[in-house]
Amino acid sequence: MSCYVMKFGGSSVADAKKLYAAARKLAEVHRQGHQVVGVLSAQGGTTDALLSRAREIDPDCSGRELDMLLATGEQCTVSLCAMALRRLGMPAVSLCGWQAGLKTEDRHGDARVLCLENDRVKRELEAGKIVLVAGFQGVDCHGDITTLGRGGSDTTAVALAAFLHADRCRIYTDVDGVYDRDPRKFSDAVKFPEISYNEMLVLARSGAKVLHDRCVELAKQYGVEVEVLSSFRELPGTLVHG
Ligand code: ASP
Ligand code: MG
Repeated sequence: MSCYVMKFGGSSVADAKKLYAAARKLAEVHRQGHQVVGVLSAQGGTTDALLSRAREIDPDCSGRELDMLLATGEQCTVSLCAMALRRLGMPAVSLCGWQAGLKTEDRHGDARVLCLENDRVKRELEAGKIVLVAGFQGVDCHGDITTLGRGGSDTTAVALAAFLHADRCRIYTDVDGVYDRDPRKFSDAVKFPEISYNEMLVLARSGAKVLHDRCVELAKQYGVEVEVLSSFRELPGTLVHG
């Protein structure tokens, strides 16, 4: 039995229809006999909306309370997706970062992932469930919720793939792979069928929004191969590897 980590970004879970489409993709892999961990972002626009609400109260807000607030976006998505999966007749459980044991540094807004400090995800997988883990968040040594920086759900996916020794790590997004330039802005952008960790790091750090740079660092460190794929179209994506 292989273990798949499948991450869906905010635009791939933006409404009920898309959330069901993501749930069906997760269900399909589970039906093929694999263990499935779904990592989900907040529904598109949610994190920005939460940030605006916080800034209405305190224009300089940051730190612990902001992380408490922002983490709710991903918590909503995983619970909704678990409900969708149950409607589809699949066993599923949603977990916040702290429940999954995703331990980070005690640094708010931009925490690095350290380790997986419990076996909850493993136990749920062994019980035959599809495990939905809220992206972008973890817990620090004080038991407080931390967030991993904007776009950080990619990093959650790679961290889980590394710590669970998953066989596959797939990042589903609204583009169908990694391009030399943003294909949403440039019609002549060229897609890479594969790309090395180092080349991907250069792209991610130069602001190409397709993958969070920490996620690429972590993938390189742990040798996690990452497939970047379209959520909406069945097309070959990009393989990020050594
Ligand atoms: N929801 C967070 C953000 O909008 C994290 C993520 O989507 O990866 O940045
Ligand atoms: Mg992203």
